[in-house]
Amino acid sequence: MPPRSSSWKKVRDAFIKKNPTCAACGGTKSLECHHKLPYHVDPNRELLEDNLMTLCEGPGNCHYVWGHLLNWKAYNPTVVDDTKAFLEKIRKRLTNDLESKE
Ligand SMILES: [Zn+2]
Ligand SMILES: [Zn+2]
Repeated sequence: MPPRSSSWKKVRDAFIKKNPTCAACGGTKSLECHHKLPYHVDPNRELLEDNLMTLCEGPGNCHYVWGHLLNWKAYNPTVVDDTKAFLEKIRKRLTNDLESKE
């Protein structure tokens, strides 16, 4: 397997700058750039923007949960649809107004 590209860090930083929210929870902290198809599966897609997505490593650890299904050696082939559905739920979640007004 060829070594990771030397431009990865640059591509990653630019991608996160351009997509500054987690695709799963909408969070803006501890953002990481996830490969939809991992490097070890297809090294040629390492730097392709359409193979990347922003996921956070915040409280919900969306990167680990949605991107890798709780195993860094695994990946989630339906991560795009899964995170889209989850984000929709987050946006529509009901909160307890009484509690938040205190
Ligand atoms: Zn997240
Ligand atoms: Zn990842």
